[in-house]
Amino acid sequence: MLSAERILARCESLAQHSELAGGLTRVFLSPQARAATDKVLGWMREAGMQASLDAIGNAAARYEGERPGLPCLMLGSHLDTVRDAGKYDGMLGVISAIECVDFLNRQKRRLPFAIEVVGFGDEEGVRFGTTLLGSRAVAGTLDLSVLDARDPQGNSMADALRAFGLDPKRIPEIARKKGEVLAYAELHIEQGPVLEAEGLAVGVVTAINGFSRLRVTLRGAAGHAGTVPMHLRRDALAGAAECVLATEQVAKSDPELVGTVGRIEARPGAINVIPGEAMFTVDVRAPRDELRNAAISKIKSQIQQVSKQRNLTCEIESLQEFGVTACSPRLMAQMDQAVKRQGHRLRRLPSGAGHDGMALGAITDICMLFVRCKGGISHNPAESITEGDAAAGVQVLLDFIEHFALQR
Ligand SMILES: [Zn+2]
Repeated sequence: MLSAERILARCESLAQHSELAGGLTRVFLSPQARAATDKVLGWMREAGMQASLDAIGNAAARYEGERPGLPCLMLGSHLDTVRDAGKYDGMLGVISAIECVDFLNRQKRRLPFAIEVVGFGDEEGVRFGTTLLGSRAVAGTLDLSVLDARDPQGNSMADALRAFGLDPKRIPEIARKKGEVLAYAELHIEQGPVLEAEGLAVGVVTAINGFSRLRVTLRGAAGHAGTVPMHLRRDALAGAAECVLATEQVAKSDPELVGTVGRIEARPGAINVIPGEAMFTVDVRAPRDELRNAAISKIKSQIQQVSKQRNLTCEIESLQEFGVTACSPRLMAQMDQAVKRQGHRLRRLPSGAGHDGMALGAITDICMLFVRCKGGISHNPAESITEGDAAAGVQVLLDFIEHFALQR
C-alpha cells in the first residue's frame, strides 16, 4: 500500500537535518545535506533500488525494468532548501517517488522501462548563488566554470565537493545521454494558492516560467556622514534604492511579470559613512521569454540612467538565465488521465517557480504534478500539506507511472 502517513513522517525526519536550530535550512554540500542524503539513499535501497551518491552530491537510484539496462522514466525533485524553509518543497517529490517504487517492488512488479529516482543536491542555489546545479549536471548542461563560484564564507564549490568526499572532475560522467531518459516527471507542492482556491488536491503543470538574474554593483564615493554636503555626495546606496523602485515599477507594468530585489549590501556599511558601494540582485520571471527579455533590458537601462544622474559607475552582471520550459503535451495528456482516473477534477496551471525539470528539459520531455499546499505558502516554515493531499499526489503519480508503460 502507498502510505501518505509514511511520506509525511519522512519529510519530518529529513527536516531534522538543519543548520538552523528550531527551523529548517539545509544547503548544498553541507553536513546536514550529507545526513539527509544518506537517509534518502537508505530509503531508496529499502524500496528495492540500486542507490548511490553521484559526483555532484545527488542521491541517485535505479529500479530496473523487465530486463536490465532499459531506458528509464526519471522521477525526482530536490533535497536542498532555502533559508528558514518548509519541509515539503522538494522533499515531497523525492519521497513520493520512492513510495511509488516501494509499492511496485513489494508487488515484485517490473515495468517495460526502468525507473530512476533522483534527489537533487542543489536546486535552490542558496549556497553558490546559481541554481539547479544537481539537475544541470545530470542533464550535462552544467558549465564547469561554476566550480570556482564561492559561498559567502569564501569556499569554492570545487573545495566544497571535495570536503563532501566527491571528485569534481567526475561530474561530466553523470551526464545522461538523450534516449537513456524517456521522460522526467516531478511531483511538487504548488507554492501558490490556485488549487486551494478551487478546492483541488492536485493540478497538472503546463510550463515553468523562465527567469533572469542579475547582480548589480554601483560605485560612488565613501565619505564622512557629517562633513560631506548633500550636493557633493556620490551615495551608491541611495542610487540602489532608486534602482529597486525602478525594478518594481517595470515588474508592475505587466500582470504576467514579477520582479524582485532580494539582496542588497552596502559598503563600507557603517552608520556614519556614506556608502561608497552598493550591490543588489535582480530576479525577473515571466511565462513568455520576449516579455522577460524586454523587462530585463528596461531595468538595465533604468539602472544606467540612475547611475549617470548620480555620477555613479555601474556594473551589471548576468548571473543566470533560463527560458520558459514547456511541459510535454504527450506527458501532460497522460498526467491528465491519471488525475481523472484517481477521481479528481482536471486543472492545468503554469508554474511561477523554477524547478529541476527546467534543466532536464534539455535532454528529455518533462511533466509535473502540483499538490495543494496550505495558503499557497512555501519557502517558509509555515509550509504545510494535509495527509489527504499527500495521498492524492502519490496515487496520481503511481497511476501515471503504471500507465506510462502502456502509452509509451
Ligand atoms: Zn522546490
